[in-house]
Amino acid sequence: MSLLLEGVGASPGRALGPVRHISWEIPSIPHTSIATAEVDREIERFHRARAEALARLVELQHETTELLGGFEGKVFESQAWMIEDPDLVAGTEAYIRENLLSAERAFEMQLLEQRVQMMESVHAMVMDRLADLRDVRGNVLSCLLGHPAPGLEMSDDEEPSIVVAHDIAPSVAVRMRPDRVLGMITAAGTRGSHSVLIARSLGIPAVVDVGPQLARIADGCELLVDGKSGRLIVDPTPAEIESHNRALAQLQVRRKILAELAAKPTETVDGVHTVVQANLDQPFEIDEAIRLGAEGVGLLRTEFLVIGHREIPSEEEQFDAYRSVVEAFPGREVTIRTFDIGGDKYPQFMSMKQEDNPYLGWRAIRVCLDEPELFQNQLRAAVRAADHGNVRLLVPLVTSADELIRTREHLESTYGALGKEPGSGGVPVGLMVETPAAVETLDLLAPYVDFVSLGTNDLTQYVLAADRGNPKVAELYDPLHPALIRLYARVVEACEHHHLDLSVCGELSADPIGVAVLLGLGYRKFSVSLSSLAEIRELIRHLSVSDLVALCAGNARCESGEDVRGIVQEYLDRTGALKVGGTVLEG
Ligand code: PEP
Ligand code: MG
Repeated sequence: MSLLLEGVGASPGRALGPVRHISWEIPSIPHTSIATAEVDREIERFHRARAEALARLVELQHETTELLGGFEGKVFESQAWMIEDPDLVAGTEAYIRENLLSAERAFEMQLLEQRVQMMESVHAMVMDRLADLRDVRGNVLSCLLGHPAPGLEMSDDEEPSIVVAHDIAPSVAVRMRPDRVLGMITAAGTRGSHSVLIARSLGIPAVVDVGPQLARIADGCELLVDGKSGRLIVDPTPAEIESHNRALAQLQVRRKILAELAAKPTETVDGVHTVVQANLDQPFEIDEAIRLGAEGVGLLRTEFLVIGHREIPSEEEQFDAYRSVVEAFPGREVTIRTFDIGGDKYPQFMSMKQEDNPYLGWRAIRVCLDEPELFQNQLRAAVRAADHGNVRLLVPLVTSADELIRTREHLESTYGALGKEPGSGGVPVGLMVETPAAVETLDLLAPYVDFVSLGTNDLTQYVLAADRGNPKVAELYDPLHPALIRLYARVVEACEHHHLDLSVCGELSADPIGVAVLLGLGYRKFSVSLSSLAEIRELIRHLSVSDLVALCAGNARCESGEDVRGIVQEYLDRTGALKVGGTVLEG
């Protein structure tokens, strides 16, 4: 009989094949003490190993850049920063000198300390960097012990297999050959880890965070992988294999149809033109966004530059990242959101005290205005990137005109510092409407902005007093609650009145029912996460704005989000709008 296991779908695609367990653990390091006379020698050994490990990383970065591109190559640059981190160096030296530990043991202790610090944050972006820390550990310790670099040997005559491991370090992932590795499964790991980034770039389906259930996948058994849903079937039955083959064929048809549609405009059946842009969390998503037909970037979440970093990202690093996105979308808008840190995203380089209500605390624009060095670095990088394309700046969590006025002042001084003409020709500044205060006072905020982007994720939690990440109140957290629909309608009205460009970048724009409602309320521009982008473009092409306007007007007194969903779902079913080339879209 087959066995169904579930993990987190991390790299889409399907695979079927034999399992190959891999492990590249460094043996555990004994607690070895040294004599005082040996201190200098151990410190020197540590530095030699660091230099060797750095040289390996330079080589890996070079190889990866050749194979997959510059962004993927940067994975190893960030590991090099970890090895060069002054805290890591000083901490290891102190363990050797003061605790008289061998270089291996001292380095191990220092890494453990850093790991504990990182684990204090529960944010996914910080967890993503833990795998890099493990990779750094393996790299430096293998140099100290005289072992070969951790890796994955793949020969030409090897049978293609699904690689299974506790975790897969980026340096191992980059050795996976797509003609030999059909899938990647790990017990640990996160969707945003660098290994997953590499698997996606290689087109290898991946499922992570399978947990202790991984032990139930024996070496050599057949495994069926669905990298989108995260479902795994061990020793599938013939019927399950047949259904997998059907799904695989359908997936290929769907991909082909969606690729053909990528170049077509997103117009409704009654000829209303809409714009569908991409939400990007990382620059490596650029290629996928273009492939799916994104008409620019409606939200570039820039936190990837700070979360898990031990230093404020330099202006140059930020400029490179922004420019890479801007140049990928010539003539299209690229909306750079200023750092939305705080809440549940804490960079390591700032001391952010634990708060009782972090979502109501020191977050987003509040942090940027209080940290001028951080803010001005970012503004300078964004303004410089604007020389290469169509950049817009988006300010999160605004609750008052004062925050916008002060943002503009920072921007003016940025122009001054860069020797540029300030004023009307500058980078357009936008406001994220994601607090009830911003909706209520949009008329007071309008004079200070050029565009508006509706953030339904935070607006929902602040309006309904339901934490967006708390499963206990997940049922209350409903972006289609009547209170929210009324606010969405008021935002359209205010933006029309003040002639402000309006888009939606919250997750509601990735929900087919949400998009139908938003179209009915007057929204015409959507910024969508990549997993839903192509489907949303295709959906819009099957919708009629006049029908949806009537549907929204006729049901303005719906009492719950559930009622709204029922009515819109019925409309979508009746009109067959949820079908792409004969395959039904997943909601
Ligand atoms: C939002 O709040 O809707 C939004 C898009 O921002 P984030 O999800 O990054 O908070
Ligand atoms: Mg938000």
